[in-house]
Amino acid sequence: MALPLLQLPGTLNYIGLFLTLECNLNCSYCINDPEQMGRRSALFPIESKSARKSLTPAEWVAALQRIPFRQDLPVTLQGGEPMLYWGGKGLGLILPDVPHYFDLLTNFALKPDVFARNLNGQQAKFQRSAPYPSIRVSYHADEMNRAWKDRGFEELVERCEALKDYGFRVSPNKAESDVGIYMVEHPKNAVTPEMKAIYEGRVPFEGKEFLGVDEGELYGHYLYPFSTDLISRGIHPATLNCECRTTELLLDPMGFVWGCHYFLYEGWSHGGPQKEFAALEAKKFRFAEHGASLFAGHSVAPVGHLLDPEFSMADLDLYRPCSHYGRCIGCDTKIKNDRFQSYYDRGVPHTSVNIRNIEMPSHLYGKIDNLERARQFFKPDVVDRENQ
Ligand code: SF4
Ligand code: SF4
Repeated sequence: MALPLLQLPGTLNYIGLFLTLECNLNCSYCINDPEQMGRRSALFPIESKSARKSLTPAEWVAALQRIPFRQDLPVTLQGGEPMLYWGGKGLGLILPDVPHYFDLLTNFALKPDVFARNLNGQQAKFQRSAPYPSIRVSYHADEMNRAWKDRGFEELVERCEALKDYGFRVSPNKAESDVGIYMVEHPKNAVTPEMKAIYEGRVPFEGKEFLGVDEGELYGHYLYPFSTDLISRGIHPATLNCECRTTELLLDPMGFVWGCHYFLYEGWSHGGPQKEFAALEAKKFRFAEHGASLFAGHSVAPVGHLLDPEFSMADLDLYRPCSHYGRCIGCDTKIKNDRFQSYYDRGVPHTSVNIRNIEMPSHLYGKIDNLERARQFFKPDVVDRENQ
């Protein structure tokens, strides 16, 4: 039975589909590990194919068909390494039966011929007219040099360039290329002259802001003070209460909808909600009816399931109580542009989540840059009480 179509609000900025959280690499700074302690491969082990840790391609088709097509709003495939989904072949089973454009965040784990073959002739789904490449390949120096015997960057550029032979546009100009390489600007990652000589004139290459803490220093610019470093930098001994809502549709490998990246990663770092999924499947995915009891007592829980006929985008519109403020993932609270360049053009900062009523202890005020702007996000009665 076809599921009801979702009404996408104009404010929806991003659809992120985590096809799998399994990955062939184990980058020390991977944000899938909320503490960025290099524990990624232990937290998200690659399981045998028999373990049910994802929707089937047919289930994804049914789920994605609920999302109206919008030329300007692709479904961004991410993970983990999304190309590993369903033994590498899953994506090609989904793409022919859905209308959407897709963006792909990948580490190019598969060789170009296998990559292209697995797409099942659906290259055009990654060829939306956009000012940047739809296939965004991340370069991870340590892990790729380990995997590709000290020729990590050469191998990656060669793999991107080879996509030319498989129906993709590859150009050094990012607006004319379907593929580009991005490097997290972690303090230990540097662009060397040798790298420049390898990529120039062949594929687009750009740095990507590193978000998080390294050796006690915070990197990135965040709207909400201490949202990502409260605990990791020892600013306060415990996370804070607040209310939070998302501006994004974040889907985990089993089709659960999550309110933020921290909740999604944390929910999966202990094996994922497999038991809850099995119980929900037995109830025909009726999350609105059964979700609260299935996730009772969990410190993090999803907000819906895409296969629940009752799920609607209005479910994302609610501010929900959260007691984990201070462990937020940087991509949720960093200042950025929305799809309409709000920050660059109008000075209006966009964040993936909106947070209010943060119970910020007043003794931390002195450490907050731009306190005047930040106060609007704090719970007023806490401010009043602590200032008496
Ligand atoms: S490739 Fe990406 S998902 Fe995989 S470990 Fe590295 S940062 Fe994490
Ligand atoms: S406050 Fe942070 S951890 Fe809590 S829901 Fe919002 S983004 Fe997630």
